[in-house]
Amino acid sequence: MQQTVEQKVILRLAVPVPLRRLFDYLPPEGLDPTELQSGQRLWVPFAGRKLVAVLVDMVRESPHAKLKPAEALIDGSALFAERDRKFLNWIADYYQAPVGEVYAAALPAALRKGKPADHWAEQWLRLTTEGKGLPESALARAPKQQALLQQLLRGGEQSRTHLKAQGHTPAVIRALQERHLVEWVSGPTVPPPLPAAEATVPPSLNSEQQQVLDTLECSHFSATLLEGTTGSGKTEIYLRLIERVLAEGRQALLLVPEIGLTPQTLRRIAARFPERSIAALHSGLGEGERAQSWLAAAGGQADIVIGTRSAIMTPLPRLGVVMVDEEHDASFKQQDGVRYSARDLAVVLARNSDVPVLLGSATPSLETLHNALSGRYQHLRMRQRAGDARPPQIHVVPTLREPLEEGFAPQVLRHIGDTLARGEQVLVFINRRGFAPALNCDDCGWIADCPHCSSKLTMHRRQRQLRCHHCDYRRPLVDSCPQCHSRSISALGGGTERSEELLVRRFADYPVIRVDRDTTATKQALDRLLAPARDGEPCLLLGTQMLAKGHHLPRVTLVVIQDADGGLFSADFRAPERTGQLLEQVAGRAGRGSLSGRVLVQSRFPEHPLLQMLLEKGYGTFARQLLRDRAVAQLPPIHAMALVRAECEEPAWAEEFLQNARLFMQSLVPPSPELQYLGPVPALLERKSGRYRFYVQVTAQNRAQLQPLLARVCAWAEGNKNRRLRWAVDMDAQEL
Ligand code: ADP
Ligand code: ZN
Ligand code: ZN
Repeated sequence: MQQTVEQKVILRLAVPVPLRRLFDYLPPEGLDPTELQSGQRLWVPFAGRKLVAVLVDMVRESPHAKLKPAEALIDGSALFAERDRKFLNWIADYYQAPVGEVYAAALPAALRKGKPADHWAEQWLRLTTEGKGLPESALARAPKQQALLQQLLRGGEQSRTHLKAQGHTPAVIRALQERHLVEWVSGPTVPPPLPAAEATVPPSLNSEQQQVLDTLECSHFSATLLEGTTGSGKTEIYLRLIERVLAEGRQALLLVPEIGLTPQTLRRIAARFPERSIAALHSGLGEGERAQSWLAAAGGQADIVIGTRSAIMTPLPRLGVVMVDEEHDASFKQQDGVRYSARDLAVVLARNSDVPVLLGSATPSLETLHNALSGRYQHLRMRQRAGDARPPQIHVVPTLREPLEEGFAPQVLRHIGDTLARGEQVLVFINRRGFAPALNCDDCGWIADCPHCSSKLTMHRRQRQLRCHHCDYRRPLVDSCPQCHSRSISALGGGTERSEELLVRRFADYPVIRVDRDTTATKQALDRLLAPARDGEPCLLLGTQMLAKGHHLPRVTLVVIQDADGGLFSADFRAPERTGQLLEQVAGRAGRGSLSGRVLVQSRFPEHPLLQMLLEKGYGTFARQLLRDRAVAQLPPIHAMALVRAECEEPAWAEEFLQNARLFMQSLVPPSPELQYLGPVPALLERKSGRYRFYVQVTAQNRAQLQPLLARVCAWAEGNKNRRLRWAVDMDAQEL
């Protein structure tokens, strides 16, 4: 038997490089190995660079000879507990993603760059031994100091953030410090304070809401679809669940779509839980604030965590419930890097943590609906609007033979005028920003194309620019045709800007508020823009899907959908589903208060069977029909699907790479009725930012058949030496 003199420790690290494996290192020289814990960050040398890696595991032996030592330990304690590492490793496996990139995606940027976590350590004020000995009645002659002293005696130590929010001034604190009654100590991070909100009293639940809450069990894992009409009071259900888990001393996680996390949403939650520590995690935060929120969540100090997609990867040591609002929203799917679905991961996380997960939507995704209808998820419904609001009435306005004025039928303009004259509000939905989607020469047929993408440039008249909405290429607007110098060039089709011009002219007495990405660079801007609408003045709101989500504007009684046809004839099999969701969500903005609502839907194809089913029977029936169609076509969610993608400036290289990928996969698993290949075919947007994009589609009856095959093709593709070609595997791809 061999004897080891010295027990070696080998570190298995997740290094942020595009390789699907962990890397072995020795502990940093001179470091006592007992200081090491899995879940800490370390600096490591890698291919001549210095990178931030996460310690995933420690082992005794390595298959690799000549290991290098890591350079330095960053964290005093682990950022990721064992449960978190298990989850992140699972993500890497399921999505065939490089494990180091998964860990990097889980960290906020500042920590990803190696900034020490204690930079955000909070200062906590506590009583000294002397201070603890005082009676509450002490310092009667200095009432401000007395108030603070009493608070510390009753509530224990307080964070600097909390004290500041409560109005205790530095001078008062200093006075107590000088009397040696209090001292600052460094302690756990707390989330940055949210904008102040007035406390609200919860409404009493209606019977549907009560029933849902009675049915939801909170002690163990269960997955539930809450299919509730817009305005049925789903948010109230989330708030009650939060209340329930907070009472048990647990944390609540609420995921919201990217454009759903507005100051309005945050205010609503903060107003309900004014005493609680709430961490918001979204892209609008600065790097420092984001790290602070993340550390407060991961350290367990934040009671409620509300965030967009990437919040799902934040460690939550006391997790009690996971909720996903508008679970059908496309922003839950990451479209590059680690291509995960936060909605799907919410279910995995809840199962790992043995806590319930609630997926809420008025227009559930076909994936979730399928899981609910097949009995895998509990299915709860709320059919009535909460409070006294009634469902809106929907009418189709055929536009094929109508003389339109900038895209509006005369009777629609008349209804808009009548509604405003009654002192109510109108919302006009146009799914396109800019002035017009194309610029065209009447003489030679020239069209302004993006030089980098297979798409047309959108005209933005106010900025006098042509812009690509895919790669953000911009060029000045032209007055004459660059090809034949003709001066008769015209804008084709409509956009928000063009409609705005007409509506401003026609309804000059009322404010016209245009909401799209051009007018609302930030969430705060959107909030400010909508202020007059919230005040209840008659006005006209005009915008893209930014308007479709989440806003509660009770004075909107008329909703106009300018063009319902966009998604009905797309080559993307998901387009009808998305169109249905969008139309139903927009329609749901009408009549949310005590006034009843009306929806006018303009369509050139009012007889289209899908459109008719949607408008007559509602999204629920429509979606169930789409599911049957998907089953027949052997498409998701009935079948599992993954794409192998490649893009390159040289289209032939991408195609050849994918051709070989397909041949390689076929040599492992030949095509059969159970597992099928398609492609390489060009992506729907074939050229983007100068690169041609193709994919091979693999569908199978279940994921278990797909996974091993994808793992093998990744290993094969990692051998690709062409640096100008990018490839990726996209499990459960959402975009074609
Ligand atoms: P959803 O999220 O389902 O679209 P919300 O939760 O935003 O709906 O609720 C719509 C409106 O109804 C909100 O103004 C909300 O305050 C109100 N509401 C919710 N539940 C009740 C209730 N039980 N009684 C009265 N009003 C309610
Ligand atoms: Zn021309
Ligand atoms: Zn472009």
